Amino acid sequence: MEETFFAEQIISWYLKHKRNLPWRSTEDPYTIWLSEIILQQTRVAQGLPYYHKFVTEFPTIQHLADAPADTVLRLWQGLGYYSRARNLHACAKIIVSEYGGIFPGSYQELLQLKGIGAYTAAAIASFAYNETVPVVDGNVYRVLSRVFGIKNDILSSKGQKIFRELAASLVPEGKANVYNQAIMEFGALQCTPAKPACLLCPLSTMCYAFQHGQQKRLPVKLKKTKMKHRFFHYVVVRQGDYLLMKQRMGKDIWTGLYDFYLIEGQKDISIEELTEKNDVLLQLIKQKKVSVEVPNTYKHQLTHQRLQVKFIVFNLQEALPDDISEQMQVKLYSFEDVRKLPKPILIDNFLNEQIF
Ligand code: SF4
Repeated sequence: MEETFFAEQIISWYLKHKRNLPWRSTEDPYTIWLSEIILQQTRVAQGLPYYHKFVTEFPTIQHLADAPADTVLRLWQGLGYYSRARNLHACAKIIVSEYGGIFPGSYQELLQLKGIGAYTAAAIASFAYNETVPVVDGNVYRVLSRVFGIKNDILSSKGQKIFRELAASLVPEGKANVYNQAIMEFGALQCTPAKPACLLCPLSTMCYAFQHGQQKRLPVKLKKTKMKHRFFHYVVVRQGDYLLMKQRMGKDIWTGLYDFYLIEGQKDISIEELTEKNDVLLQLIKQKKVSVEVPNTYKHQLTHQRLQVKFIVFNLQEALPDDISEQMQVKLYSFEDVRKLPKPILIDNFLNEQIF
C-alpha cells in the first residue's frame, strides 16, 4: 500500500541520515518539550546552544518553575518570539502546581496546557509516549503536499483539515516516535523548500511533484502577512554608571524585556521635530542636559515588522527630576544590573557598542 511504502521509506531514510541531536536520545517529556518550544521558528544550529543552556540551568521542570521570570527571559535573549519563553515558564508553574511536576501522559491532556498547541502536544506525546498521533509542521506540509500532490492552501481551514487527516492516516501504529522524527527530518534535509534532492530521493517513484515538475509550486501558501514598518526613537538617560530603563508591558513586541523610554513615530523624523511633539524630550532639552544623537540607525527585522531605530543619549550630571522620570516610567539601574536584565538583542547590541 502507498501509505505503508511512504512510512517505511521515510523511516529507513531517517535511520541512515538523521542528525544526532540531544533531544532525540531521550524519552523525557520535559526536555523534549524544551527542545520543541526552542526550535519553533528557529533553526537547529541556532536553537542548540539555547537547549543546552536551559537544560543545564533548569535540569528539571521544578527548577524552571521556581526561577524568576527575568532569569528565564535573560536566558532566552536573542531567540526572539519572547511569548514562547513566557508561556514556557507559565506552563512549568502549572505542571508543578497542578500536576505535581509530572507531565500529562496523553496528547489530549497536553493540549490543555498553556502554550502547548496541536503540534507540540503531538511531538511530546509521540516522542515521549509513542502515542499514534501525527506531527504537522512546515516540513510535514511540504513533504505531504509534494508527494501526494495536495494543492490546497496550507493556511486555509480546508487545507489544514486535509493535511491533518492525511498525516494521521500515515503514522504507523507503534512507530509514531521514529516516524514523526523521520518525516520532519526528511523535510528539513531532503525535501527542502528551495532545492529538494529529488534525484537521490527514495520517494521519487511515488512523488507527484517530482513526476509533474511541481516542486516549486508546492506547498501552496496563499496568505501573505503584510510587513509593518515602525520607527523608534529611544531616549537613553545615563547618570555616570547608571541607566534609566523600563520593562515593556502590554501586548506589543518584547513584553517583559527591558528597554528605554521610547518615542514611536509613523516615519523617520529629525530630533527637532520630535522635540516639538514630545514633552519629555522637550523638558530634557530645556534642562540643558547634554544630548547626543547616536549617528547609527539600527535596523531590526522581526517576522512581520521592520524596525528602524535611533538613540538619543542624555548624559546627566545630577539626578533627573522625579516628575520627568515618572512621566517616562523608568527606573535607575547600575550598569552591572543592566547587564543581567533580559533585553531585546537590539538593545543589547546598542549598549555594547555605545555605552559599556
Ligand atoms: S522527489 Fe523531490 S519533491 Fe518529492 S519527496 Fe523527494 S525530494 Fe521531495
